[in-house]
Amino acid sequence: MALEFAYRQPVKIYFGAGKFARLGEILDELGLRRCVLVCGRHFAPTAQQMQQQDGRIVAIFSEVEQNPQLSGVEETTRLCRTLQADAVIGVGGGSAIDTAKFAAAIALEDGEPIAYYRGERPFPAKRLSIIAVPTTAGTGSEVTQVSVISHVAEKRTINDPAFMPSVAIVDPELSRSVPPRTTMNTGLDALAHALEGYWSKNHQPISDLMAVEAVRLVMENLETAYTDGDNLQARANMAYAALLGGMSFALPKTAGCHACSYPLSEDYHLPHGEACAFTLDSFVRINADERLELLCRRAGLSGTEELAQRIGALKELAGLRRRLSELGEVDLDKLARDCAAHGLMANNPVPMDAAALRAMFAQLA
Ligand SMILES: [Zn+2]
Repeated sequence: MALEFAYRQPVKIYFGAGKFARLGEILDELGLRRCVLVCGRHFAPTAQQMQQQDGRIVAIFSEVEQNPQLSGVEETTRLCRTLQADAVIGVGGGSAIDTAKFAAAIALEDGEPIAYYRGERPFPAKRLSIIAVPTTAGTGSEVTQVSVISHVAEKRTINDPAFMPSVAIVDPELSRSVPPRTTMNTGLDALAHALEGYWSKNHQPISDLMAVEAVRLVMENLETAYTDGDNLQARANMAYAALLGGMSFALPKTAGCHACSYPLSEDYHLPHGEACAFTLDSFVRINADERLELLCRRAGLSGTEELAQRIGALKELAGLRRRLSELGEVDLDKLARDCAAHGLMANNPVPMDAAALRAMFAQLA
């Protein structure tokens, strides 16, 4: 088949230990003067210190929850509008960055956030600058136009060009304090991004290259980052793997494993990374083909079976849930139906209907 693709990567990326300390210079470079900083509660004291030292941080919203809520977007948007901010800085895991993206996208208009959330208003072309600073090595949100936001019982994944960060500052030092279990969850999410971008029906050559390298780096560093969180080399390699993982799926989008992660998170409350990890080894076996074998060999593995087994071993090491019996009362038919109905399932290279998914989950009983 003739080589053909369209590739785009619009985010300016600063990578390296200590890079976050250069935020001021980066704001200078972009001419930004009035920034709202979004973070989780644990980062609030640092954010307040930053605000005292740099008058360009005009407000802080530090109430971001694990599953970011539309109410957080509403509050951040209100701050941006009343303070006439020119940028939103999201510091944290996917939650803080996704909240920052949404608020920055709508801050220059006066519509209610819910109207954009429901799709009643389109996201405008003009928006505030978005500076994404990931503190976990996983979501890749710093290089994608995806924002996952919850409202009451609903969890929406919104994919819009308005959400693409202007700048990503990836500083591995920031991931040093991430606890082991979160390190494993987010690391396996990064692995899932790379594999899903690679096996997505929309895969393309430049993204594939990054996927191979991300898989190699996760396989060589995740266990060390989990067992020895102070190992900055392993942290840096995982931060780079997560960045590459994000870029691997930014254009091709994810597939079956992520499709299943949504019902697993919503109905059985698994954190995103653990929800992806739950079916990742199953999908490696289901999607195994010549292309995936090639990725495995290029990533330093003997083949797909070794990849699947090592994912299982990593989950076991961290005590992640691996069986449906660990999730409480599971309605197998509903779970299979909900996974099949998710839009991302259509990207899976092997067609998976509810019956095929039921069979997959039955093996995890
Ligand atoms: Zn993910």
